[in-house]
Parts: sequence; C-alpha cells; structure tokens
Amino acid sequence: MNDASDLKTHSPTLRIGLIANRAHQDAPDSALVQLFQRAAKSIQALDIEWVVVGRTLDAIQTHGLLELCSPHVRFPYGRDGGLMKLAAHVVNSDPHNSIDAVIYLIDPVDHSSIFPEALALKRQCVIHRKPFLSTLAAACEWLELEALAAGGRDHFSDGLGLDLQHESIALIAHDALKQSMLQIAEKHFSLLDRFAHRYATGTTGSLLNQLACRMKGEELGRHWVQPFLSGPMGGDAQIAELVLEKKIRRIVFLEDPHVARQHEADIQLLERAARTVTDFALVVSDGEGSDRWLRLLHERLS
Ligand code: PGA
Repeated sequence: MNDASDLKTHSPTLRIGLIANRAHQDAPDSALVQLFQRAAKSIQALDIEWVVVGRTLDAIQTHGLLELCSPHVRFPYGRDGGLMKLAAHVVNSDPHNSIDAVIYLIDPVDHSSIFPEALALKRQCVIHRKPFLSTLAAACEWLELEALAAGGRDHFSDGLGLDLQHESIALIAHDALKQSMLQIAEKHFSLLDRFAHRYATGTTGSLLNQLACRMKGEELGRHWVQPFLSGPMGGDAQIAELVLEKKIRRIVFLEDPHVARQHEADIQLLERAARTVTDFALVVSDGEGSDRWLRLLHERLS
C-alpha cells in the first residue's frame, strides 16, 4: 500500500481513480461492492493501480475487497480535498503521476456530487479525453472492454446488454462536435445500425438521418434516428425519461466543455438520469472515448 505522497512506485498499464458516494459504499450490495464482484475477472486481467479517495478505500477494506483493489494509493478524504487531488492528477501529464480514467459512482441526490470539484473532475476528464465512468454499468462495461483490448479472450460480465437487437442508444452532440459525431457514426455505422432504436436531440438527429440516407438510401435512412426536440428546447429531458424507464441504456453525448452552455441544467439532468439507474445506463462524453468504446464493443460482439 502506498501513501498519497509517492504515487510513482511502478508503472501500471492503467491508473484508475476511484470514489463512490456514501449511498454506494456501505451496503453489502452497494454499487461499490457490485463493481468488484461483477468486474472481478476484468480487473484481474488488467494491470491496474487504484487511486482511491479515503472513505471509499475504508469501505473497500470493510467489505474485504482490498485484494482486488491492489495495488492502491490512498488519497485524502473528500472533505480534505481527495476529489480535488484526483482532478489535479487527471490533468497531470507526467505518466508516473497521471490518472488514466476515473470511476466515480455517483448518487445523484448526494450533494457532494455537484460540488465544484466533482464538476471540475468530470470536465477535466472530458478535456483530457480520459474516461469518466459515473455509473456501475459504465465502469463494468469499460473494464470488460479494456480487458479485451489488453488481450483477454474471455467474456466475463453478465448483464451488459449485448444483444443489440433489444437495445437502444442515444446520440447527442453539441454544435462544435457535430462533425465529430457524424464521423464517428459513419465509421461505426454497421454497429449502430444493429441497435433496435437510435434516438437523438433534434439537430443532431436530422444530421444523422442525412448520413443514414447516404449510407442506406432515402427510404431506410430517413427514420434511422428518432429525433426529439433540440437539446436547449428540452430534448435532453425527453431522452432522460427513456433512460429512467430503462429503454435507453447507452448514451453518446459529445459535450463541448469550452463554451458557456445556456442549457447546462438539461445536460446535467440527462447525466443524472443515467446515474439514477446506475446498474443499467452509461454515458460516454468525448469523441475519442466514444470511438474506442464503439470499436471495442464491436470486437466484443464479433
Ligand atoms: P441539438 O441538441 O442536437 O438539437 O443541437 C444538442 C444539445 O445542444 O444538447
């Protein structure tokens, strides 16, 4: 076990920051416990160093899960700046100190999940293109796909929702990222086409349907994606309802962290909907991460 002051003893393939809000820590079937149970084989297949915020590490110890969570580094308790330190290590470019991904099991009604350091941590993950996994489903799926990418041949997890004929996906992009969305959708078109339903906010959806008309012809392409209202007009809220009803499991939301967003509340609402059904839904927020995720999902299904 290391101390927070020496976060550089060896060079793991992945250094993962880990924190769970209190409601996700203590129960025997808490999201934190389920993470280590459901993703145990993926974790064992990967070379991970965990960087764990204080109370989350205490809970892991109490549940007897330290063996799976090792090696690890203890970061301070949240009230002593643990989350701020995680954000600093996300932006750190020194490979011996930098965190590659953050698993933050968020309880949407825990006030600390909307503290500035929590929002900054997410934003810096998007800016620095590091996965920010805020639901149990996101963490389990990401760990499994990374285990596959690391050469694992086994399929580990149950309940990932891999039968795409019965799955739906939401596709949303802020204005500066609509071209990226179109490139990603074109590159992964055959995978996206396997989903039972595709949903989008208004403008993103009409662009994606134009792409689909080119790819599949006018007749089949016109309704490839079901567009809701534009994001600022309430489309994010409409999509959130389907997430809460467990009709949409996966959300690609290419968000622009560099502009003032008049509909910030709607953006947060959609993410909070995913966190409300933490064992079901997942959000991917940056283009590079989405591209990698769709490629690995394709490989996983092949
Ligand atoms: P749009 O909405 O697809 O209608 O542009 C996206 C958003 O800004 O949330």
